Amino acid sequence: MQDCLFCKIINKEVPVEIVYENNKVVAFKDIHPKAPIHLLIVPQKHIPSVDHLEIQDKELIGELFLTAQKIAREQRIAQTGYKLVFNVGRGGGQVIDHLHLHLLGGWKSEKERDIPGMP
Ligand code: AMP
Ligand code: ZN
Repeated sequence: MQDCLFCKIINKEVPVEIVYENNKVVAFKDIHPKAPIHLLIVPQKHIPSVDHLEIQDKELIGELFLTAQKIAREQRIAQTGYKLVFNVGRGGGQVIDHLHLHLLGGWKSEKERDIPGMP
């Protein structure tokens, strides 16, 4: 997708801090972090949102979650806990139309965890 920011990031046309990548997914730091650790895990394949998933994307969805689990362990937030969020559509707070899983964590307290605009 020519005009998709996350496709450009995947193709290395827009620089970001990549923390993990394989042939199916890329994970990078969110430019406006809403938590001490805020990463976005995106499929290499352009899929606009959860609402656009098809049956053949079943395995790819598993890959997104398992990548989140792996990174959370590497970043040492698995024990304290973290949030995984998909915003879906404008009404759901989605502004970039390329599927992405938010991985948020690293808070020092429950109070610090309550993020405005996040569930
Ligand atoms: P959403 O609101 O679910 O569509 O989330 C989009 C996320 O992309 C937001 O948290 C933005 O801060 C993040 N974002 C936008 N542009 C960039 C960028 N160039 N690099 C990294 N993250 C970005
Ligand atoms: Zn895209």
